[in-house]
Amino acid sequence: MAATDCLFCKIVTGEVPAEIVRKGERTVAFRDINPQAPTHILVIPREHYADAGEAARAGTGVVDDIARDAAEVAAAEGIAGTGYRLVFNTGSGAGQTVFHVHAHLLGGRGLEWPPG
Ligand code: IMP
Repeated sequence: MAATDCLFCKIVTGEVPAEIVRKGERTVAFRDINPQAPTHILVIPREHYADAGEAARAGTGVVDDIARDAAEVAAAEGIAGTGYRLVFNTGSGAGQTVFHVHAHLLGGRGLEWPPG
């Protein structure tokens, strides 16, 4: 169910515009407005969950859907071969600013470890 005043729920419904790269049955993928890598795409479920833990605990398999659809987007973007990073910032201390679960799909450049 959509949450009122959730930016990403509004991207799912089309109320807020986004550069959408993939529309799946259960997920939507769109380009991050402030990209941190040549490819920086957010993969979100259509349904509202605050974070990855809440989504996983729902037991619907939606986190699997996010990971699988992100892999498809990575392939379509041409970064599956070189490798990519999938990140769920979880909690404000980890940098989460939008509380509708989203995987950051990052690639197209070398990625450092440990992350900042
Ligand atoms: P978080 O900090 O892990 O919660 O990631 C939120 C991400 O959403 C950030 O990378 C933002 O740049 C991105 N973002 C915020 N608003 C929009 C938007 O309207 N369109 C696309 N990306 C957005």
